[in-house]
Amino acid sequence: MTPEQCAAQVLSDFSITDIPILHFPHICEKRGIKWDEYPYNDAKYSGALHKIDGEYYILINSDCGIPTRINFTKAHELGHFFLKHPGEKFECSSNDIFTTDIANKPSEVEANRFAAAFLLPQDKMELLVSDDNYDFTTISGIASSYAVSIQTTVIRTITFLQGSFRAVWAVNGIVQWAIKSPHCKQPTLYKGQPLPPQSIAHKCFADNYIPPKDEYIKVPHGTWGHAKTPPTELVIPFKKINAILSITKW
Ligand SMILES: [Zn+2]
Repeated sequence: MTPEQCAAQVLSDFSITDIPILHFPHICEKRGIKWDEYPYNDAKYSGALHKIDGEYYILINSDCGIPTRINFTKAHELGHFFLKHPGEKFECSSNDIFTTDIANKPSEVEANRFAAAFLLPQDKMELLVSDDNYDFTTISGIASSYAVSIQTTVIRTITFLQGSFRAVWAVNGIVQWAIKSPHCKQPTLYKGQPLPPQSIAHKCFADNYIPPKDEYIKVPHGTWGHAKTPPTELVIPFKKINAILSITKW
């Protein structure tokens, strides 16, 4: 069973159909998991699942004060539990909660996939997202309704697009993560790569350019990949944290 199938099974088992999915206390109670939420004053530590003498305990660090992140951490810890990851102790750092490092942290990646699929159920996302409406209005609307971050929303919803799309999250002009739609054949981008100089995203960082909202703009051939047709790019700036979400469509 994939993490996504497992998440769908849990949603079905607990008859969860309403949104946002804030059913963590209910699920813990029904499964006999003891849990606590506390501002632990340790920015690196997000949450933990412990198994002690056959009993499960989940600890959530609420110190970040960001409800969407705390909600994702709760779903991530439930992921370790329902995916039956072997081990007595999972102590998950803030890096683990966002990791895509499948080679070194397979359980953490699986728990993240579970969390995204649990908080943004497939049947609902398929109705909300399409190639034609994939813009900031749609993405931010889902993030707000489902109490998840913009980043989680993009990572989850891009998997339902039929065309060739790639999303990139960059901070200070440097790629933090990139993800492709299932049919995208363009090259993978990696953490640490600088944004391409001809991209709209780069223009936003370098020239303080403010892109039009919800509009895919044509960029020169070869800017973001090797496709024969020039791509279009939608850029959403997050000025306060000097971050950018760039979505390229071929
Ligand atoms: Zn974890």
